[in-house]
Order: sequence, then C-alpha cells, then structure tokens
Amino acid sequence: MKERIFLSSPHMSDEGYEMQYVQEAFDTNWIAPLGENVNGFERELAEKVGSKAAAALSSGTAAIHLALKAAGVGEGDIVFCPTLTFSATANPIIYQNATPVFIDSDYETWNMSPKALEEAFEKYPEVKAVLVVHLYGLSADMDKIMEICKKHNVVVIEDAAESLGTYYKGKHTGTFGDYGIFSFNGNKIITTSGGGMLVSNNEERIAKVRFWATQSRDQARHYQHSELGFNYRMSNVVAGIGRGQLRVLDQRVEKKRYIYEFYKKELGGLKEIEFMPSNEWDEPNCWLSAMTVNGKVRPIDIMEALEKENIESRPVWKPMHMQPFFKSYDFIGTNVSESLFENGICLPSDTKMTDENLKTVVNIIASLWK
Ligand SMILES: *Cc1c(COP(=O)(O)O)cnc(C)c1O
Repeated sequence: MKERIFLSSPHMSDEGYEMQYVQEAFDTNWIAPLGENVNGFERELAEKVGSKAAAALSSGTAAIHLALKAAGVGEGDIVFCPTLTFSATANPIIYQNATPVFIDSDYETWNMSPKALEEAFEKYPEVKAVLVVHLYGLSADMDKIMEICKKHNVVVIEDAAESLGTYYKGKHTGTFGDYGIFSFNGNKIITTSGGGMLVSNNEERIAKVRFWATQSRDQARHYQHSELGFNYRMSNVVAGIGRGQLRVLDQRVEKKRYIYEFYKKELGGLKEIEFMPSNEWDEPNCWLSAMTVNGKVRPIDIMEALEKENIESRPVWKPMHMQPFFKSYDFIGTNVSESLFENGICLPSDTKMTDENLKTVVNIIASLWK
C-alpha cells in the first residue's frame, strides 16, 4: 500500500524546536498546567496576532465556551452563529444553556453573510453575542460584520480555530471582536496534539478566564469557591509543543498557500470547478484547499477516486441547521451553505506533501473529466 496522503496532519519543525521546549519542562519538572511554557506560549501567540492578552486552554472548544461565559452569555440568551462550520463552534452555546440562531454564508467569502446577519438582527434584536468563523482560513468580511455588530452594540467572538496566520486588511483574524479563539488540534495549521487559546485586549477578562479554567479557586489557603469552576487549562508540556510550532507557522502558511495555488493552476481550468474565493482584502492561511464542483462529476466521485490511492479528502462542513441535533433552532438565509455542502470538497492540504504528491492528486481528479 502506498503511503497515505493526509488532509492535514501534524508537522513538527525540522529543527526540533518543540522537543527543546518540552525537554525544558521535564528538566524543571513543570509537568503541570502552569509553568514557563504556558506563560511563554500565551505571550508569543498574543504578540504574533497582535492582541494584548491570551489564555492557553485545553482545546479550542473550551476557549469558545469561556469566551461565551466571559461575554456574559447565559441561560436563554440568543447567540448568532454561522451555520457552515464545525459543530465545536455551536456546542458551547448549548453548554451555556443559550440558544443558537444559525446564519447563512455568502458565495463571496463562504463565511457569515452580512446580509443574513442584518436580517437576523431584525428578527432577534435582543441577541447577546455574535460568533463569527473564518472557515478553512478564509477571513469573513470583518469590516461589514463589525459595522453591523457595533450598530447593535453586541459582543463579537471570532472562532479563528482554522485561521491562525490569516490576515484581513493587514490585521490578524481573531482580533477584530471582543474575543478570539484558536485551536491546536491535530489537524490544524499548527498543533500541540490538542489545545486552544483565547485572546482579547481586555486583560481583566483574560485573568478571569484563567481563574475559571483552573477550578475557580478563591484566594484562600483552604479550597474555597465562589464561582463554578472548569478544568480547562493547557499543560506546560503541551504548551512547549505550541511554542516550537509557532516558530514555523509562517513556513506552514507559505506551504499551504503554495498547495492552494498549485491546485488552482492545475485544476482551475476544468469545467464546473470553482475554487474557494479569494478576496483582495484577504491574506488567507489556506489551511485546507477547498473547491466546488457543479457538474456531472460529484464530490463523492473525487473522494472515492482519491481514497482508492490511499489519499484523504473530505466534504465541506455539513451546515448546523441540517444537523439532527440542531434542527429545532432557527436558521436565517437562503440555500448558500447547503449548496456549498452539496458541491464542496476539501482536497489534501498536508504541508508535508511533495510536488509529486500534488501532481498525483491533480492527475486522479483530472482523469474524471476525461
Ligand atoms: C477545530 C475547530 C474547533 C474546535 O477546536 P478544538 O481545539 O478541536 O476543540 C472549533 N471551531 C472550528 C471552526 C474548528 O475547525
């Protein structure tokens, strides 16, 4: 069997940076959810994205959960959430006993449609927070979205789990709203094997998030709790991997963009293929190269042809309003996200792929048009 080509797998630095930081944690016996790697990773990531403060957490999902809590979202509150996303964006809304209202995408960005967002505000003026996602490392149209949200004076949380390294008009995604979150899950552009980060310019709120994430222990010698606690902190060992990975982030972005350009050049000419959008204000990290096919060849045909050669690919996220678990919640929009789901496919975008690997993928796909 040929060696598997992955969609997006962990890629440690050639220099071994990650092991150096992990070794430090072992040498100093800081094998705990606290220590110099955690502090360093928070500092370095905040600096990289241009945010005042950051809290390192156990996952991106935990970061969304505590962002909602920090935003004051609680029982019965309404939260606007893109429908075209991974379920981890929406689940924490339910953890907080709040109510999601799902918002459609537009074809220009694949992300939250400003038009559908305005409609949602008309229907639910009492909304508490808006979650914005930057899907596949493409930025949402933040100027338009922020203008609408400011007009309605609502808290904005950016799920930038997939968009570390993506800039919108020169500013890093995840730093437009009140809170931004990143994920270091195994398939993301950089990984710690699992982990997340919550960033904000509000240092006092970030301090509160760290407090909640370490079981909400009051300042007292005995164990005293005045608030509900969580065990959501990132460990010092894991943070060491993150510090090493952060040093190669720019390299990873460069390779992801190369992969996207390669596919676009080689496949863009085929009838009925359309690549994910590029906008002049967007500098995407191209975490996954995605496209839609609108003709006789279906995404499933491409996925099956690739799988035969031990190559991984997958459909575009299935919209939340089509999920059995979320189907009772309201959806605002038309059929854009449904159509992206039906026609979309994510191509292998692993940064370890060689040109030969890329050519193999291209040839398999092109052969379906013959
Ligand atoms: C991966 C991902 C998350 C969740 O991050 P975890 O670290 O896996 O909890 C949230 N939202 C989106 C859009 C993601 O892709």
